[in-house]
Amino acid sequence: MSGIYLHVPFCRTACHYCDFHFSTSLNSVGAFVNGVVREIKLRSEMWKNEDFRTLYLGGGTPSVLSLQDIDKILGALNESLPGFNSERLDEATIEVNPEDLTEEVSRGYVECGFDRISIGVQTFDDSLLNWMNRKHSAEQAESAVFAARKAGFNKVSIDLIYGLPHGSPKSFEHTVSKAFSLPIDHISCYALTVEPRTVLGARVKKGEEKEAPDSVIESDYGLICSVAEDNGFSHYEVSNWARNKENKAVHNSAYWLGAPYLGLGPGAHGFDGKSRYSVVSNNPKYLRSIDELILPDTLETLTPADCSNEMMMTGLRTAQGVNFNELEQLFGVDHIGSNKDAWQKWSEAGAIVSLDNGRHRISEEHWLIGDSIASDFIVL
Ligand code: SF4
Repeated sequence: MSGIYLHVPFCRTACHYCDFHFSTSLNSVGAFVNGVVREIKLRSEMWKNEDFRTLYLGGGTPSVLSLQDIDKILGALNESLPGFNSERLDEATIEVNPEDLTEEVSRGYVECGFDRISIGVQTFDDSLLNWMNRKHSAEQAESAVFAARKAGFNKVSIDLIYGLPHGSPKSFEHTVSKAFSLPIDHISCYALTVEPRTVLGARVKKGEEKEAPDSVIESDYGLICSVAEDNGFSHYEVSNWARNKENKAVHNSAYWLGAPYLGLGPGAHGFDGKSRYSVVSNNPKYLRSIDELILPDTLETLTPADCSNEMMMTGLRTAQGVNFNELEQLFGVDHIGSNKDAWQKWSEAGAIVSLDNGRHRISEEHWLIGDSIASDFIVL
């Protein structure tokens, strides 16, 4: 089972914290759509035997695309990839920004075949939205959720950010309680990270801004964990909560389990099970290369140890955890035996928990430092 990730490299404005690949020159959206159609054809031979079960339109801001643009891309996927049928997917997600989402637009997405929508809310505090340079208000974010629901989306997810330097406990409490009062089925909540090549990064460097202290990050994370639990949401991945089993993100879950995925568009990554490629993160370079029928990829072949390390790191970010015996059988890598001291230390601390089915996971209380715990089990 494979997925398709399409990166839409445009945004209307730049959020101050964001270092994803995007351009604000929307006049090249049409050229991008034509480029993606060509890219799909260029990659089709290599991916002709894959059974595609999920589609994810991410970015950037996929909601800058018109319904006609989306239709054109879906048409190319249906036509060029024998294992892709937009009407028979297990999940088709589109990411949108609240200011773009009306009930009519949402209905158009449903008619295109999307059954899951991910809305970039970030916070329900207008002053923080302004500080982030987001283009929507808290009220617009709330209306977007209702518009998606009314239009027929039965899987509605929102993105939030915690650990904001100017956030107060009250503001985050308000955001979380507002979020759970809405008709949503899924929440992704990520800690703000200060990236060097962003407005925020430059301000922090100049001393005009400070990162939030660890205590704020810990209390915000603790708050969303407990409110999500009170509302019956299951915490199935470090940064993801679902109302029930059906609402877990299928595309992302497959990715966390190491399934192959076809990446399309500038800035996208793809993985065929053995090697990974990154598509150039530059729109004009991407278009020139695709015009010359050359895939603008950087390839990285993964060793069995690389594959095992990656599956271990992503697996330990999930509640399902990792089957270390399976990794040893698949890749010949013994993460526990090679890191006995770290294993003992984290097991004694209660950070590593063994599950009934022979798998191990990181306990929820330790998830905030989960990546650093998991990195202790890497085998080089
Ligand atoms: S956060 Fe989203 S909308 Fe904002 S600049 Fe980044 S990709 Fe664009």
